[in-house]
Amino acid sequence: MSQLELLWQYQQADVEVDNLEMSLRRSPKRQKLVKLRDSFQDLQKSLKQVEDEVLAMLDRTDALKDAISLSEDQIKQLQNRIQNETLESSEQVRDYIDEAQRITVSLNDYEHETRRIRKSAADRDRLQRDLKVRLIAAREEFIPLREEYDSEYKQAQEQVVKLRAKAEEKREGIEAELLEKYNTIKQHSIPPIARLQNGQCGGCNMSFPSSVLHNIKNGKLVECETCGRMVIT
Ligand SMILES: [Zn+2]
Repeated sequence: MSQLELLWQYQQADVEVDNLEMSLRRSPKRQKLVKLRDSFQDLQKSLKQVEDEVLAMLDRTDALKDAISLSEDQIKQLQNRIQNETLESSEQVRDYIDEAQRITVSLNDYEHETRRIRKSAADRDRLQRDLKVRLIAAREEFIPLREEYDSEYKQAQEQVVKLRAKAEEKREGIEAELLEKYNTIKQHSIPPIARLQNGQCGGCNMSFPSSVLHNIKNGKLVECETCGRMVIT
C-alpha cells in the first residue's frame, strides 16, 4: 500500500475517534449540565450580592441609630437650656426655635430612612429565601444528571480509548514527515486528505489543471491550492 493510501486509512480511523469526541462534547445532556451550572453560578452571584446589600444596610442602620440618639441628646440639652437659662431677647428665643427645628428635621430624616431600610431589608430577606430555594432546586436537578452523564461519559471514554488505539495502529508504517504534514493541514482543514472526484478536489470542489491531475493520478503528493488538503485518487 502506498504511503498516501496508508495515510488515508489512518485518516478514516482518526476521523472516527474525533467525531465520537465531538459528539460527546455536544451531547444534549452535557449542554444541559453546562446550562444548569451557569444558572447555579448566576444564582450564587445574585445571592452574594443580596447578602452584601443586607450587610451594607445593617451598617447604615447602626450609623442611623447613633445619629438618632445624638439628635435626641441634642434635643434634651436644648430643653435643659430653655428651662434653666433666662431668655433675654426675642432673637435668642428664635435661635432656640431654629435649632430645635433643625434637630427635629434631621431626626425625622433619620427615622424615615430607617423605616425605608427596614422595608428594603424585608424585601431582600424574601429575595434571599427565594434565591436559596432556587439554588437547592438547581442543585437537585444537577446532581443526578451529572451522575448519569458521568457514567455515560465513562463508557464512551472507553470507546474513545479503544478507537484511539486503533487509529494509533494505523499510523504504523507512515513516514513521520507525512504525518506531520497531515497534522498541520488538520489545523485548518478537516479532514486533511480528500479524494479526487470528477477531476475536482473532494474537499472544496476546486478543479485542477491537467498537469496537477496527472501528478495526482501518478500518486505524487499534491496539496489543493484552494483548501490546502492533500488530494489522492
Ligand atoms: Zn481543495
